Amino acid sequence: MKIRPEHQDIAQFIQAFRLELHRFPELSNHEFETTARIKAVLDQYQIRIVDLPLKTGLVAELGDANSPHLVVLRSDIDALPIEEQSGVDYVSQNAGVMHACGHDFHASAALGAAILLKKIEHTLPGRVRVLFQAAEEIFEGAPALLATGALDDAAVIFGIHNDPTLPVGVLGSKAGALTAGVDRFDITISGTGSHAARPHDGNDPVIILGQVIGAVQTLLSRNVPSDHNAVVSITQVHSGSTWNVIPDKAWLEGTVRTFNQDTRELIERRLRQILQGIGDAFEATITLNWLAGPPSVVNDAEWVEFALEQAPSAGFEALTVQASPIGEDFAFYQQQMRGAFIMIGSGGPYSLHHPAFRVDDRALFPTADYLHRLAVKALEKLQ
Ligand SMILES: [Zn+2]
Ligand SMILES: [Zn+2]
Repeated sequence: MKIRPEHQDIAQFIQAFRLELHRFPELSNHEFETTARIKAVLDQYQIRIVDLPLKTGLVAELGDANSPHLVVLRSDIDALPIEEQSGVDYVSQNAGVMHACGHDFHASAALGAAILLKKIEHTLPGRVRVLFQAAEEIFEGAPALLATGALDDAAVIFGIHNDPTLPVGVLGSKAGALTAGVDRFDITISGTGSHAARPHDGNDPVIILGQVIGAVQTLLSRNVPSDHNAVVSITQVHSGSTWNVIPDKAWLEGTVRTFNQDTRELIERRLRQILQGIGDAFEATITLNWLAGPPSVVNDAEWVEFALEQAPSAGFEALTVQASPIGEDFAFYQQQMRGAFIMIGSGGPYSLHHPAFRVDDRALFPTADYLHRLAVKALEKLQ
């Protein structure tokens, strides 16, 4: 992807900034240094920072502060509790913390977009707010930002995520559901334990656990219509402490990924019914703890088409992509305003959240350029 001579300085600057963020990753809601680093650059370029009661993360504003037309660009800034094994020479200096989801890339691209917008600020037909959002990985940052009211007047929001499954030079999205609704659940089975040789004295929660595991998968294959994708994974099971005692409790935990609200509600409702039935059959008490996460990212058809149309102007080829069962708290913004979430090809061999994950920086400046063009064109469309 070519970078024009007049943009070489900004491209090099955000490249160096990306590596600096990568060296000093911070966990969700603890992005203090990251916030300070971004703020220092915004100050250096005399870019306004919106005064908001945020612990970490920040919002920059460009254009006419009094304009009714507001377009929002969103990036995220937090890292993950992973020990980095990428082998890069700018490896994380913060033990056990790593930018394994590429939020260093997103924040640097958004910063580049803000700098590019600053250069044409007096010509902008409205306002652009650029979000450097904290705590995406724990799905708390977007609700916290919405609660400040900073986006109350927004007409449209655009978000990006790097995607190692797409090559550099390609970006992709789709209308409708793009990411999954993410819910977490845990189940406690309380029964009566016994001597391992006398199971008839109790009701063996280990056997009940086995019934629950099987029933959960049947729920998907026999309740969810085949054209409504959903995933239920059980990821932890615990019971017992020795070989000759049948325990009185069993516990399991897992996650549900869905692409529409009906399926999401159906799975929770049927899970409760099935657990009640198994509990009755085995004379045990089974309790379900359901922890709702973000819903599915659902792209506005008109704005996602618009966003894909702008791709060639920044040197990208645009693709329509499949929905992916990852979670993204960008979904919370879309409950309050129209929006489009775009996947940017970052072409690495390792998946997001992998300890060896890395992004290809050839996509960095083009992403900044793309975001700034998207904001300008969206403001023009809103006139
Ligand atoms: Zn992530
Ligand atoms: Zn992410």
